[in-house]
Amino acid sequence: KSKELGRNMYQLFDQSMSKRNYQSFILERDLRKAIMNDEFVAYFQPRVNALTGKVTSAEALIRWNHPQVGLVSPGDFIPLAEESGLIIPMGKWMKRRVCEQLVAWREAGIPLVPISVNISSQRFLQKDFAKDIRALLEEYQLEGKYLEIEITENSIMKNEETVTKTLEELKELGVKIYIDDFGTGYSSFNYLKTFQLDGVKIDRAFIQNISSESENASITTAMIKMAHHLKLEVVAEGVETKQELDYLVEQNCLQIQGYYFGRPCPIEEFEEKYLLTV
Ligand code: C2E
Ligand code: MG
Ligand code: MG
Ligand code: MG
Repeated sequence: KSKELGRNMYQLFDQSMSKRNYQSFILERDLRKAIMNDEFVAYFQPRVNALTGKVTSAEALIRWNHPQVGLVSPGDFIPLAEESGLIIPMGKWMKRRVCEQLVAWREAGIPLVPISVNISSQRFLQKDFAKDIRALLEEYQLEGKYLEIEITENSIMKNEETVTKTLEELKELGVKIYIDDFGTGYSSFNYLKTFQLDGVKIDRAFIQNISSESENASITTAMIKMAHHLKLEVVAEGVETKQELDYLVEQNCLQIQGYYFGRPCPIEEFEEKYLLTV
């Protein structure tokens, strides 16, 4: 660790260092501190069944409560966290935070909804990923159905053997797997029949301003049809308007996530708004 820091210090004083490098040096240093000082916060965003209006699950989304800057969005630190490997301890923190919350709800007698966690491809591709999830569920005495996992297409395209094994183990545990940002990757659709997946989350880019005449509508409709044929669940992400919602319901895509039903919010707020209202 100190050796590494020394190297970074050297870089810092290197005349050729650009401003951008300097900024990412500061950011990485602060991120390391954030992990030690427990500066991360989990926000939950509801996923709603469009027909019943019921909250069926939630996605856990990380925020960084920076001591000087305040709340920082993942878009501003995930890329560097990926690059520096800090995404691994961050992910570990998030999985524990989610399990802790599920246990707290259970102990309070609040009916649980599954919570979905984003997993970096770095972590997902490590051979011990599923084993780690198994140990976590055991430690917290949680059923696998309460934990869901979101991975991106590029997570699944790398090492077929490892991915197959990991997915099998997760299936055994009852942990569902969703492909996040579906439709935005460079991959072919071949993986959809190769691997045992539970569902896809259609990226917000396709949902925006959707109406029956738009190009997005044709693409989304095709994705929904394909998913249903493959017996995959379909979730639409980033649904903001009634118009978008109506179009999706018409196409029989009933699992909805987006500002229309609720923004990501602190867990206490999520609990009050969505779990305690009978
Ligand atoms: P994602 O997994 O695709 O999460 C959905 C993003 O869309 C979230 O952004 C959410 O706040 C935003 N969103 C949801 N509904 C709407 C909507 O109706 N309109 C608009 N404009 N946006 C909406 P967020 O929270 O900023 O997270 C961004 C990305 O950061 C996530 O995209 C995910 O890839 C990553 N991320 C977040 N938390 C974690 C984490 O704990 N671990 C990892 N590895 N990645 C994470
Ligand atoms: Mg996600
Ligand atoms: Mg997404
Ligand atoms: Mg994403």
